Amino acid sequence: MAALRRLLKPQGVTFSYICTTHQGRSFSSTVITDKPIHLRQDPKNRNVQWVFLGCPGVGKGTYAGRLSNLLGVPHIATGDLVREELSSCGPLSQQLAEIVNQGKLLSDEIIIRLLSKRLETGEANGKSGFILDGFPRTIRQAEILEGVTDIDLVINLKLREDVILEKCLGRRICSQCGGNFNLASIDIKAENGKPGIYMAPLLPPPSCESKLITRADDTEEVVKERLRIYHEMSQPVEEFYRSRGKLLEFDLPGGIPESWPKLLQALNLDDHDDKQSAAA
Ligand SMILES: [Zn+2]
Repeated sequence: MAALRRLLKPQGVTFSYICTTHQGRSFSSTVITDKPIHLRQDPKNRNVQWVFLGCPGVGKGTYAGRLSNLLGVPHIATGDLVREELSSCGPLSQQLAEIVNQGKLLSDEIIIRLLSKRLETGEANGKSGFILDGFPRTIRQAEILEGVTDIDLVINLKLREDVILEKCLGRRICSQCGGNFNLASIDIKAENGKPGIYMAPLLPPPSCESKLITRADDTEEVVKERLRIYHEMSQPVEEFYRSRGKLLEFDLPGGIPESWPKLLQALNLDDHDDKQSAAA
């Protein structure tokens, strides 16, 4: 990961300003190190290095998580990285807390730092390969990533927008036990050459039924705006990987039971020993 830092440094990015903890200890000397570059490994000698793209509500985290279990590679979601760092009292946590509390977006540099820290830890533990979820979000992030490591494949999960909207509006949380459910029952018949889509609802047990609440931001207006922003940001990133022949477009045919086997087929993994039930 030293390579990431080297790549960032010429652009005037220094990390030392971040690195004073509440104990007043400076981490700057440990942050910028000069390890040899060993991120570009022969694909035959390492595990997959994949990226998952997909709009909010498409289930990207679920499929990325399942594949990482199947292939034995770390599933790295930037949202988790941020939460982990916030709870760790690590060198970045104070600055992160300030940014998050002000409702601001984290800069590319901070996201890259968190990611490189995580990849370094993985390497130190002898893990190779990764599945990135929610990263890269911008062309600049994609370029930085491209500069230091090889991305083998970018899987773009797609689902019809009307279906995503219905699924998002169907989400419910139990105010007592925190369980997540979905009341939307989607059964669209195939027409005009377009395949049908079937997604079963995820209904709550009777004990939760009277306690269901809807998240305040799961309104039609907010979901549509979230999707619009996502598409605006992601299209250049998709194009970046499409032009390099690395983008695999995958139209989800439905829920997990319908989609998981087809996704494995599309990735030539259908002969893999899969212990995860498609019906989960
Ligand atoms: Zn409950």
